[in-house]
Amino acid sequence: MYKISLITGDGIGPELSESAVSVLNTINDKLDLKFDITKLSAGDATLKQTGKALPDETVNSIKQSDACLKAPVGESAADVIVVLRRMLDLYANIRPAKSYPHMPALRDDIDMVIVRENTEDLYTGKEFSLGDSAVALRIISENASKRIAKYAFESAKQRDSMRKVTCVHKSNVMRVTDGLFARVCTEVSKDYPDIAFEQMYVDACAMNLIRQPEQFDVIVTTNLFGDILSDESSQVVGGLGMAPAANIGDNFALFEPVHGAAFDIAGQNIANPSSFLLSIKLMLDWLGQKHNDTKCFEVAERLESTIFDLVKTGVKTKDIGGDKTTTEFTSEITKNL
Ligand code: ATP
Ligand code: MG
Repeated sequence: MYKISLITGDGIGPELSESAVSVLNTINDKLDLKFDITKLSAGDATLKQTGKALPDETVNSIKQSDACLKAPVGESAADVIVVLRRMLDLYANIRPAKSYPHMPALRDDIDMVIVRENTEDLYTGKEFSLGDSAVALRIISENASKRIAKYAFESAKQRDSMRKVTCVHKSNVMRVTDGLFARVCTEVSKDYPDIAFEQMYVDACAMNLIRQPEQFDVIVTTNLFGDILSDESSQVVGGLGMAPAANIGDNFALFEPVHGAAFDIAGQNIANPSSFLLSIKLMLDWLGQKHNDTKCFEVAERLESTIFDLVKTGVKTKDIGGDKTTTEFTSEITKNL
């Protein structure tokens, strides 16, 4: 029995959470892998009700669980997810982008992952006013760069792809901060002679993701560049509605869609729950690895193939060219699991 904490979020968060619970319950019933789900609140609505975007009870409950699923939160995201990433030391943000048949993708041969440093860079909130200027401190440390670089090379080692790591930075302009990041990644690359290594400036990378995305395998980059490039890479393979993410530390992990609360489509029952359901897939893989539980890998594989088999036969939500509602799409998944 795995204890799962679930932050239900804002905007389309509650709709996605309902879909996730329904899929987890089906896995409980049909596939004999047991979950104990605790729903938790955090985000804009919670801030309004309680005065805190991330209440202590939520944090305590997450700490007692085996893994956390987090639906998107709105304006208060920086006070929820950015805080959780640092509090739980979830230093690696993993954002896969894989093309599948029958998706509105730019190409159908893309299989890459963005490994985004998750604890520092411009995300530490060290911003202030100085005279007539606004200043933000960009922190890049040797330690954090080293562990994310190692994580990227270890993931490249495990992939059955071309096994290449591309270090993305802008060291021609930010010579000290990105200079450090590039140097550390290059040093770490020497411990992995079987894995190809290259460096690319972030502007060139943004262009190449459109021009020749099949050239990428594992991209390792700093926090803000990773945020931007992963929205782009998700669009290259079919859009934010299909894009999951994992926030991984040495002892704990949190799984969430790449996208935000999407207030423009909230409450309409049209959101694509795949981003969150594929986050459950990433969670199952992580639980399988951590607990040496092959059942988790089996169910992860089954969940992913169920989603893509449905999409292949035209059972799709609006964002990827179909007409199914969130609840219709979810019940097709639970029927076919
Ligand atoms: P944030 O700053 O939190 O990242 P954002 O302003 O980038 O938020 P998102 O919420 O990430 O906006 O989404 C951008 C747009 O993509 C949404 O307005 C919505 O139209 C579309 N979108 C995002 N997620 C989904 C989904 N699961 N299903 C369908 N459309 C989606
Ligand atoms: Mg966004």
